[in-house]
Amino acid sequence: MEMEVDEQPISGTSSSRLAPIEEVKPTSKQIKRVAAHSHVKGLGIDPDTQEPLDEAAGFVGQKNARYAASIIVDMIRMKSMAGRAVLIAGPPATGKTAIALAMSQELGDGVPFVPIVASEVFSSEVKKTEVLMRSFRRAIGLRVKETKDVYEGEVTELSPIETADSSGLGKTISHLVLSLKTAKGSKQLKLDPSIYDSILKQRVEVGDVIYIEANSGVVKRVGRCDVYASEFDLEADEFVPMPKGDVRKSKDVVQNVSLHDLDLANARPQGRQGDVSNIVSQLMAPKKTEVTDRLRSEINKVVDEYIESGVAELMPGVLFIDEVHMLDVECFTYLYRALESPMAPVVVFATNRGTTTVRGLDIKAAHGIPPEMLDRLMIIPTMKYNEPDIRKILVYRAEAENVQFDEPSFDLLSQVGTEKSLRYALQLIAPVRLCAQCAGREVIQLEDVQRCVDLFMDRSESLKRRRKPKNVFPKLPSKVRVKRFI
Ligand code: ATP
Repeated sequence: MEMEVDEQPISGTSSSRLAPIEEVKPTSKQIKRVAAHSHVKGLGIDPDTQEPLDEAAGFVGQKNARYAASIIVDMIRMKSMAGRAVLIAGPPATGKTAIALAMSQELGDGVPFVPIVASEVFSSEVKKTEVLMRSFRRAIGLRVKETKDVYEGEVTELSPIETADSSGLGKTISHLVLSLKTAKGSKQLKLDPSIYDSILKQRVEVGDVIYIEANSGVVKRVGRCDVYASEFDLEADEFVPMPKGDVRKSKDVVQNVSLHDLDLANARPQGRQGDVSNIVSQLMAPKKTEVTDRLRSEINKVVDEYIESGVAELMPGVLFIDEVHMLDVECFTYLYRALESPMAPVVVFATNRGTTTVRGLDIKAAHGIPPEMLDRLMIIPTMKYNEPDIRKILVYRAEAENVQFDEPSFDLLSQVGTEKSLRYALQLIAPVRLCAQCAGREVIQLEDVQRCVDLFMDRSESLKRRRKPKNVFPKLPSKVRVKRFI
């Protein structure tokens, strides 16, 4: 395969206008929220009949809601959801978040799922529309396909090029010219300072045989063979001698990033990033710049170019906004506009409220959502579970959390789930395990569950007690109270 970077000068970090791309890393908050649904692997739809199965992909029951969600997934694939959003409405712990997550899983690998709770939008430091915008951009994925090639050649020239620095007093190395003799002729490469640093560290000299790694024609790394083996993750058997200039390895590298990752990467100062191993240079390094609307629109432009040239593919993910009744009218106004964007992710709202006040409008409306917004929503109801379903869900969660119950203790847990609430029973799994471990047991017994039920209250029990404060915190005789404050 001929080296694409042949004659033209090549920058070391990136010849494109975007900062180097890294894999999408969910925030710890997102990881925690998604971990509660680790048993859910999809909507559990029969691929032949397209009907929801009783129990599949970690899902139990809630068939109508799952079926409705699968129709929405099809609409998203057919691009018929523009300007619309989904609302999943139902009692607590009826699988609203789980369904939204399953929708993103059905949309494909690497499709982002960004769960937020509406109240997170209200922060004293960041504007609420900015929080929403960031969440939107986190939920828009980009799959970038690069070709990674590794070449071999002998160094014939290695000259740093110096230019006057901005003060005009000194000189800095702006790039490095590297000439290479390969079996297919000679090549001259222009490498940027971060690559230059790595060449210095590896003590590459004229006459050395080196490897060059290029991603879609852009040189990413250069190194001597011995350094290359450990650093460039080549398998040992790939080090068989071969004619110079041949491609040693060529593979497609697919990376998933979100638009928010690109915003952050491009807000960081570019240039001599190889230097920051040293604490002083880290402290001296210019600070991060802000992500501005201008930066975002620049990034959108570059992303559009990537998409048009076939290097990248846009993957709108799912932005899940739980407790949507907490948003206020300004947020909804922002959302109307954002939903119109051709790059918008699928927005799935959820609420367990019926009619409640719309914040900022002070009118009552269904689910606390302004009527104009409600008109744009496809509403999926979720229903309370029956006892067998609750039991099965608890089995999934116990397995996912790797907790073993004996039969009587699991019967009690399911009974608690049915009589009190599924959420309460789910919350008990972790403390029950700890109680058993303290008693030196790996398998949970009846007394462990009973102990935690006595120790922790469920929501309705707590409410009951709050309504009767006298029983919980008996009032002290007035004399005693007065004395205390003197
Ligand atoms: P809330 O209104 O309190 O936000 P929710 O309706 O979003 O609750 P989830 O958080 O999705 O409820 O569900 C609670 C737990 O039960 C999660 O661990 C979820 O994965 C699990 N779960 C809920 N429904 C099902 C189901 N049908 N099958 C399997 N697991 C389920």
